[in-house]
Amino acid sequence: MLASEDPGAVLWDMDGTLVDSEKVWTISLADTARRLGGELSARAREDMVGSNMPRSLGIMFDDLGLPHEADRLAAAERWLTERTGELFAAGLEWRPGALDALRTVRAAGWPTALVTNTLRSLTEQALESIGREHFTVTVCGDEVPHGKPAPDPYLRAAELLGVAPQQCLAVEDSPTGAMSAERAGVAVLVVPCEVPVPAGPQRVHRASLAGLTAADVRAGYAQARSKRAA
Ligand SMILES: [Mg+2]
Repeated sequence: MLASEDPGAVLWDMDGTLVDSEKVWTISLADTARRLGGELSARAREDMVGSNMPRSLGIMFDDLGLPHEADRLAAAERWLTERTGELFAAGLEWRPGALDALRTVRAAGWPTALVTNTLRSLTEQALESIGREHFTVTVCGDEVPHGKPAPDPYLRAAELLGVAPQQCLAVEDSPTGAMSAERAGVAVLVVPCEVPVPAGPQRVHRASLAGLTAADVRAGYAQARSKRAA
């Protein structure tokens, strides 16, 4: 029997939270923009952090001043997926403390989900290095009607686990991801990576996952819930 202050499940974002894949995306997005004949601005790249494929490509096309033509968007999606897949297959770097944090949460007995905006095909490549054993279920961006910042991915993960969203704790690095979790009614432990994440009614912040203990997870969950209740 779990103690009442325990989260019912811990829901992990992937890119930028567990692995340093946002750096990989920075390379593959820049390469894709170049194949489209332009240079991606830093501002546009920042807007894409934590976003999904259609939204990111929309931002890229706007940034490059290209019309949203279906053929060209489809070609860009292919290039971006291929290039990112190549880089994922070459190996991903852990964010500080992420592997130990995954093991700590598993050892505490909490059900877990990987909740990512990344496509299933790319996520499968990433899972080769992250390890599937850390997750009870996995939800990808192309498996729900709307990706983050919509609540769908988190709602789907909670449903698959059979746990109420209000009893889950998400771990997120981006404003987009934190908003998605919050909209689903999920408390958020924010561990920023590439971009700052503003405070929110169901968010608690932590500098990194390094040294995260089960007691920290419980405390973060309780604190985020008490903010919501306040
Ligand atoms: Mg992320």
